[in-house]
Amino acid sequence: MAGRQYPWVLASVPWSDAQQYTRGVKDGLPLLSHGCAPRDKLATYRQLRAIELRPGGQDPVAVLYGRHNGSKAKWFANLYLINRAKPVRPTTPAKQTALAKANLARRICRTCGKDPLYVLPTSTRQCWPCFEVEAAATDADVAAA
Ligand SMILES: [Zn+2]
Repeated sequence: MAGRQYPWVLASVPWSDAQQYTRGVKDGLPLLSHGCAPRDKLATYRQLRAIELRPGGQDPVAVLYGRHNGSKAKWFANLYLINRAKPVRPTTPAKQTALAKANLARRICRTCGKDPLYVLPTSTRQCWPCFEVEAAATDADVAAA
């Protein structure tokens, strides 16, 4: 049975001075099941991002496992210490300007030079009206040939 695969093991863990019950070891880290991981001390990468934190270079201190309801497939997720996590780097103004420029460049039609207010297809780099005109001209050329 699933419960017997990971027996409870009392172990020393980085997030507590006292020994804690774990479900054994995976990849050298304490293995925890959903429910026995202390949510105030440990978080997955996604959980950290949800509270605008990132691991900040620390190695995971434990592995969380669970089971998908539908497929029954097992999943594992690294757990990080929340008190060692760092705030997500805010986007710097310089980076924002660069991003805005890059986005603007991708919106300028190479034929009419206008900004149609949407990102152009990389294949044509044209706004839709210009693309249609050129496509019609190409069709005419093909017809004339
Ligand atoms: Zn155009």
